[in-house]
Amino acid sequence: MAQEDVFKKIVAHCKEYGFVFPSSEIYDGLGAVYDYGQLGVEMKNNIKTYWWQSMVLLHNNIVGIDSSIFMHPTIWKASGHVDAFNDPLIDNRDSKKRYRADVLIEDQIAKYDEKIEKEIAKARKRFGDSFDEEKYRATSANVLEHTAKRDALHERFKKAMNDGDLAELKQIILDEEIVCPISGTRNWTDVRQFNLMFSTEMGSTADSNMKIYLRPETAQGIFVNYLNVQKTGRMKIPFGIAQIGKAFRNEIVARQFIFRMREFEQMEMQFFIKPGTELDWFAKWKKTRMAWHQALGFGADHYRFHDHDKLAHYANAATDIEFLMPFGFKEVEGIHSRTNFDLSQHEKYSGKSIKYFDPETNESYTPYVIETSIGVDRMFLSIMCASYEEQALENGETRTVLHLPAPLAPVKLAILPLVKKDGLPELAHSIQDELKFHFNCQYDEKDSIGKRYRRQDAIGTPYCVTVDHQSLEDNTVTLRNRDTMEQQRVNIADLCGILSDTVSITSILKTL
Ligand code: ATP
Repeated sequence: MAQEDVFKKIVAHCKEYGFVFPSSEIYDGLGAVYDYGQLGVEMKNNIKTYWWQSMVLLHNNIVGIDSSIFMHPTIWKASGHVDAFNDPLIDNRDSKKRYRADVLIEDQIAKYDEKIEKEIAKARKRFGDSFDEEKYRATSANVLEHTAKRDALHERFKKAMNDGDLAELKQIILDEEIVCPISGTRNWTDVRQFNLMFSTEMGSTADSNMKIYLRPETAQGIFVNYLNVQKTGRMKIPFGIAQIGKAFRNEIVARQFIFRMREFEQMEMQFFIKPGTELDWFAKWKKTRMAWHQALGFGADHYRFHDHDKLAHYANAATDIEFLMPFGFKEVEGIHSRTNFDLSQHEKYSGKSIKYFDPETNESYTPYVIETSIGVDRMFLSIMCASYEEQALENGETRTVLHLPAPLAPVKLAILPLVKKDGLPELAHSIQDELKFHFNCQYDEKDSIGKRYRRQDAIGTPYCVTVDHQSLEDNTVTLRNRDTMEQQRVNIADLCGILSDTVSITSILKTL
């Protein structure tokens, strides 16, 4: 099945089973805004708990905060967002569709990469075991030609972005003969900058109204609370502040479902350090964050680092952790060495000193910062994409199964009485009454047991317990594993322990 079709199925599955709904659907929706349904919210909460606990519980020197969405507007002037939080946009006059000029060019670079990979795959097939990829890359005329074009385009693009040269971005689009995917034409407008912040007004009278912004990132709430937390928590550098919260961006091109939303949620951690130590900490946090992702068990080949060519105005090193989505490797998390840009700017604009006095060296300095910033919704999407499978069974049927990492699954255990009589429902309810204090359990007595298993597979429930007549005699039940479909007979009294070892967030935190 084409990857595009797989993605459509995943989007439909999310809606059909109550994970994600388009916002305001009965009014035909609102562009790039989504609601999480009854199962989606459970999984989203599990993702947030996994992140929060990995930061705040596992590190003595990281604490959390919850700052407000509305903030003093000068914060966004100081942070550079009022002047520089822009995307270069371009319109196609025929289709009237709007695009990000940088994304059009990045897609073009990816096309050259695809061509190169195709050539290599073809050659590998032709030469079999004797294929030497390195040699082929260095000698094949076609590969060399695509590589030269790709590298030249990449260099030109990097320079245009770093110089903020909008005319050059347009020229690249024209020279590369990039067409609008809708109209198929090259009838482009000029490239212009577009600020991504939403604004609103605060105040009750026209005179006293103040223009304020919906925060486009949670990080600034951490920076402006740096002194409060450092002093009241008696924190010593190095230390971190973590926060989970909503962020808002008026994205020009909102597509790919919850990958790019106008209202989304971020999990950010700012780690405050001594100037000069930033590259060491940057490397450490890259490793720590990659390990956090890979602990989910999807396989290392699903992830890669992508170092930034164009550094944001505040950064001296930056990388993305990218995940293999059905539409290619895409950013899920950013790790940035932000220097002391933000704290210095807030010192300048607020007039308050934000210095750290180091008792060991008797020096005062404005701390440097390493930031790890991950989108909850993109994380959610990556997990959905990697977990979704349509499986052909030996009996000729297919089952749709979500192989969700058990600690993130919305429902951990389904409790199913084999029949709706003979005291089986009562025993099943009593098992749920015991386990509900530990795990999210679902009771289901409707339809055949096979159909009930399929429903649970489709929502990613890692275990099903079936209560049968034998259960009444010896207090055992069958425990079915979602992935292997194997069943084992276990004592009801052992269920809590067996499940704790695999479905709790603690079980995954222990592997880090
Ligand atoms: P992109 O280049 O895709 O626009 P970004 O580099 O601007 O992303 P950051 O500012 O580094 O993103 O934000 C950190 C994280 O927040 C991203 O890695 C992503 O997971 C998430 N994020 C950013 N913008 C969105 C959005 N519009 N919708 C959903 N998640 C987002």
